[in-house]
Amino acid sequence: MEIVHIAAECYPVAKVGGLGDVVGALPKYQNNAGHQVRVVIPHYDTEFINKNEFDTVYSGFVKLGNFNFPFNIQKEKIDILGFELYLVHIPELFDRNEVYGYEDDIERFLSFQMATLDWLNSRSEVPDTIHCHDHHTGLIPFMMKYAYKFEKLRSTPTVITIHNAIYQGQFGFDKLYYLPEFDLSKVTILEWDNKINSLATAIKCATVVSTVSPSFLNEINNFGYGLESLFNQVRHKSRGILNGIDTEVWNPAKDKMLFANYSSKTFENGKQANKVKLCSQFDLDPTKPLFSFIGRLLEEKGADLLPHAAALALSENYKEINILILGSGNTGIENQLSHLVASFKGNYNVFIGYNEALAHQIYAGSDFLLMPSRVEPCGLNQMYAFRYGTIPIVRRTGGLKDTVIDIGDDGNGICHDQPSIEDVCYSIQRGVSLYKDKKSLKNIRKIGMNIDYSWESVCQEYINLYNLKTN
Ligand code: ADP
Repeated sequence: MEIVHIAAECYPVAKVGGLGDVVGALPKYQNNAGHQVRVVIPHYDTEFINKNEFDTVYSGFVKLGNFNFPFNIQKEKIDILGFELYLVHIPELFDRNEVYGYEDDIERFLSFQMATLDWLNSRSEVPDTIHCHDHHTGLIPFMMKYAYKFEKLRSTPTVITIHNAIYQGQFGFDKLYYLPEFDLSKVTILEWDNKINSLATAIKCATVVSTVSPSFLNEINNFGYGLESLFNQVRHKSRGILNGIDTEVWNPAKDKMLFANYSSKTFENGKQANKVKLCSQFDLDPTKPLFSFIGRLLEEKGADLLPHAAALALSENYKEINILILGSGNTGIENQLSHLVASFKGNYNVFIGYNEALAHQIYAGSDFLLMPSRVEPCGLNQMYAFRYGTIPIVRRTGGLKDTVIDIGDDGNGICHDQPSIEDVCYSIQRGVSLYKDKKSLKNIRKIGMNIDYSWESVCQEYINLYNLKTN
């Protein structure tokens, strides 16, 4: 079937978090399974885009109220990613370094959605499914159904996959005139809590709704960031599908970003070699267990707990553990984490920023990966940790609940229930004990490395979703 994915991120073209990983991987596996897959994202000013070659396949104008933005659609020439990649080039709005975080994000992503539909509507073929990801593409199902311009796409099935329900793309009705002319009797569909809400609109209009883990789907029916009643209403057309991981990109035996490669047979020496190098880079002690964190430094990730939990754990286990943190986000948390370096020199360090290669090196060189998340729709870090022989320490929530089972229940990781400093420290303490029990440590690492989280097994679940009859 012909599948078109529309998203804000796609690794390695542009990535901020897990959305990028999923949109860079799922299409490749769908393509390998014999489907014709296209991915459409905005044209940002990124290294991948500047390095590769593109052909212009369509040009037009987006009319956003009184503004007219020229745009063109560019196709990457050789399908280097294993699927057809299309970029929507709107120079005035997207020739910037960052994916998000600008004052005009509403205008940017609305223009992106309209330009994408303009192009899809102009093609002679109509896709079998249009797969939208997160709120940046949330108005697409509505515009396909009710905007007069896109009539050709009216009966094409749509999917909205929710990778993050906190950000919903809300804006005031004063910007309603940005939208292309549509059937005004449907205007209330756009509304949630007196605002235009892109994610809520997608949930109402898409043929099917999916979340990136089954547990997250259950959770948002009770606590859905203001959308719980809506999630309950659409339960009949909703599915929770656990993400896979790209086992070609995330393969410790071949990963070029690592200092040393290893397999599930050679992981003891391989991991130690990576750990020694990482520790020398960050002034840590390679003879002691290394607990790491990788991610956005935000409350949703439990990152606000890290400064106190790290200080407490390092004091209680003076010189017996290392902690290393990679991330960026809330400036207050960044500063607190940076200030700790002076107090725990030789056993603690932090890298503030985004660094893909360093993330791979940390998954490989660490003994434990901390994920004290308050919210985790799926979480990919714990799956990468497993694959690299690193034991995840997680709070039981969302996808973490679906993937990590506590070692007390013969599982593969360490779990706690509360996003609290005490629970994080207690789990670190359990990690210290496990580290001393070399036989169990080896066994649990091996179990993790052998889990199959590949997209091959998940791919068919999406095809079933596209074929779901909801009426
Ligand atoms: P999110 O909610 O951020 O999308 P996920 O667990 O789904 O969380 O995915 C996070 C992805 O982003 C992983 O690939 C992780 O390695 C990566 N990542 C997060 N922060 C950083 C960082 N500072 N540097 C490099 N990679 C990062």
